[in-house]
Amino acid sequence: NEELLINSEKLYVAGQLAAGIAHEIRNPLTSLKGFLQLIVSGKKNNNSYYDIMNAELDRIEDIVSELLMLSKPQVYELAYQDLRVMMRDTVTLLETQAILHNIAIEAEYGSEPLWIYGVENQVKQVFINVIKNAIEAMSDGGAIGIKLTREQDGVFVRIRDEGPGIGEDQLAKMGQPFYTTKEKGTGLGLMVSYKIVDNHQGKIDVKSEIGKGTSFEIMLPFRYPETEIKKSS
Ligand code: ADP
Ligand code: MG
Repeated sequence: NEELLINSEKLYVAGQLAAGIAHEIRNPLTSLKGFLQLIVSGKKNNNSYYDIMNAELDRIEDIVSELLMLSKPQVYELAYQDLRVMMRDTVTLLETQAILHNIAIEAEYGSEPLWIYGVENQVKQVFINVIKNAIEAMSDGGAIGIKLTREQDGVFVRIRDEGPGIGEDQLAKMGQPFYTTKEKGTGLGLMVSYKIVDNHQGKIDVKSEIGKGTSFEIMLPFRYPETEIKKSS
């Protein structure tokens, strides 16, 4: 009975999400169709529409690729990973974007390997989403601090920015599908990130102070490769 209840709850959530996705994708589609009709009718000069049409297509593409991150990871993709390596790759990937926005990324990786067991692309996606949000929050530049540590059974990633901070009512909405305060946002980055961390038996915690900045704490279980091998033999 409890299982049935949980299933119906899952179905409800899936239904809510599907309705949201349908709505978010229908808007740009409707607009694309409108422009296409105008072009076909030959009534107006076509060239000015292409940029808008392109932007609408980009939007659909962004939504779809973020949602794809939610699909179930394949078994073979799960592997032992050193979080320091994954974070270094991510910082390298985002450094140019940060510099363009006058932002310095200051990362402390620590000196010991920080093993986790997970899907590389998904965990990297979480880091990308959170750091991107930090960059987007700091329109006047500043510093993003990243610190990796191991505390008992958990590997902790702390990412803090010097952005405007988030109010309490906004904080409660973060992670809800399609919640965004950005003109070009999808409002899916955090929802996807929370889901990925949850799938990895981890936790995300957000603390924010208006006028000071925001700090994300991501915990993932420490999983040392050799211990696991010994256990199974
Ligand atoms: P998007 O970035 O597309 O808006 P997200 O799910 O990544 O979607 O983020 C949702 C919202 O949470 C953002 O629009 C923003 O209002 C808020 N937010 C997330 N991270 C930060 C941050 N570091 N500082 C301030 N606001 C943030
Ligand atoms: Mg985002």
